[in-house]
Amino acid sequence: MGRMIKQLLRIGRREGWRSLRPSRRDLLKTALIGTAAGVAGGKASLIFAQPARFRRVAVIGGGFAGLACAVTLQEAGVDVTLLEAESRSGGRVLTDRKLIPGEAVELGGEFVGANHPTWIAFAERYGLTLTEVPEDEGAEAYILRGKLIRGHQLKNLHDEIESVLEKLIEMAKEIDPIRPFAAANAAALDGQSFLEFVSQAAISDDAKTILIADEESDNGVPAGRMSLLAYVSMIAGGGFEDYFESSETHGCAGGNDALASAMAAALGDRLQSRSAVKSIERTKESARISTEAGQVIEADAVVLAIPPTAWEQIAFDPPLPRRLKPQFGQNVKLIVKCDSPFWKATDIAPEIYSDGLIQVAWKSAEGDEGVAYTMFNGADKTAALRALPADARARAACDALAPAFPKLIDRVTRDIFMDWPAQPRVKGSYSFPAPGQVTRFGPTLVDGVDDGLARLMFAGEHTSFAFIGYMEGALSSGVRVAKALIG
Ligand SMILES: Cc1cc2nc3c(=O)[nH]c(=O)nc-3n(C[C@H](O)[C@H](O)[C@H](O)COP(=O)(O)OP(=O)(O)OC[C@H]3O[C@@H](n4cnc5c(N)ncnc54)[C@H](O)[C@@H]3O)c2cc1C
Repeated sequence: MGRMIKQLLRIGRREGWRSLRPSRRDLLKTALIGTAAGVAGGKASLIFAQPARFRRVAVIGGGFAGLACAVTLQEAGVDVTLLEAESRSGGRVLTDRKLIPGEAVELGGEFVGANHPTWIAFAERYGLTLTEVPEDEGAEAYILRGKLIRGHQLKNLHDEIESVLEKLIEMAKEIDPIRPFAAANAAALDGQSFLEFVSQAAISDDAKTILIADEESDNGVPAGRMSLLAYVSMIAGGGFEDYFESSETHGCAGGNDALASAMAAALGDRLQSRSAVKSIERTKESARISTEAGQVIEADAVVLAIPPTAWEQIAFDPPLPRRLKPQFGQNVKLIVKCDSPFWKATDIAPEIYSDGLIQVAWKSAEGDEGVAYTMFNGADKTAALRALPADARARAACDALAPAFPKLIDRVTRDIFMDWPAQPRVKGSYSFPAPGQVTRFGPTLVDGVDDGLARLMFAGEHTSFAFIGYMEGALSSGVRVAKALIG
């Protein structure tokens, strides 16, 4: 992720500071006509010559991973049942259309990358349009230790950060992002944290502070708790240089939840909502899945497509491997509605970055009634924002951005605090492996539990080392698991 890094590279390209290879701006088109169609089926249905290895499959969790898995199984003729606890599907993809009437504001998963082939292929299949996020008017700026940095002052930081990225990209070239734990140097890289790597870099303290704040905000965990192997695996998954420039370029016109709705409609009554699973019992013959509503489903294989933080709400027999506890991050969105495009009173662009309480903010929608401005942070900054009384949060957040936008709070008419860690079926934001976790948990998360009993597979963003934390990770993991079960 690293959105500040992406912005710096964008400025560097515009200003001619860049030495990294320029990104391919036609990636979206390339992906549409190329490999992506093969990944998720594109418009054509998946046709399998062999009958599926597992006739009946139960998928638990109707987020993007479970939905993608279920539609892929359905197309292969598998008898699939998707059980979703809530009345709506989509999970951590949640679109609001009330704050700015008629405009989509994403409360969870928001940006799609031009390098996200599964999202692109599903969008094409269901006739959805991905639109490029327009570049802001105004000068890019960073608030570092309460002071505004802008314009040419960003050049040194750009050059220093680019030198670090070049090293990371070289390391990523050795990694298979689907199975990073198989790399020859996997244990060494997994044993190191992103913080250790950055601390050793020959760059200024300011550049280190920016790199760390940016990644902590994006990955939701302290830099000392980020596996370096996980980090370079995402770079490999996102296409090396393109990872930094193309990972958050687009959004789905009308709102990202349109994809969940389209997949839910395709599944029809194979998707059962308000069906929270409370136990999964696996024997040699089959798996028995029981819901809180008293329903029991028998299947030959189970796909667990819920966040690891929700596993404890299910009784597993036999239990899940005891030490399998993938690290989950903490991120929140505070979305303020402002009566006017306040940044126009300055010459600063609305998309702004900081090492303070709000680490990144951007314009998320604009309508006749005002604008939605999304403020985002992660890890300890999320803890600090959550700890504030509800009526003090918007003021504290606006104060943190005051070096760029003084008196922002006076423009605020409403706010939505999307507190994902407080959602009982999420209890956080998204995953990021701690040092040691890619090698320890990776094989089980990717290949499932094959213990002679009914097969148990895992899907979800936390199982995709190529796109950890992204909607693309969820979608691609669902398709990958479905294909593994189809055989
Ligand atoms: C604040 C925030 C910002 C983000 N920004 C981006 C972004 O810009 N770009 C991007 O690509 N991604 C982003 N993401 C991440 C993205 O939203 C997730 O990676 C993705 O949606 C996860 O999908 P999933 O299917 O793995 O899990 P989920 O979406 O969590 O789906 C799991 C489903 O399982 C259901 N469930 C849970 N327990 C049970 C049970 N016992 N029985 C039945 N059902 C159950 C849940 O209700 C849920 O519907 C963001 C996430 C957050 C929180």
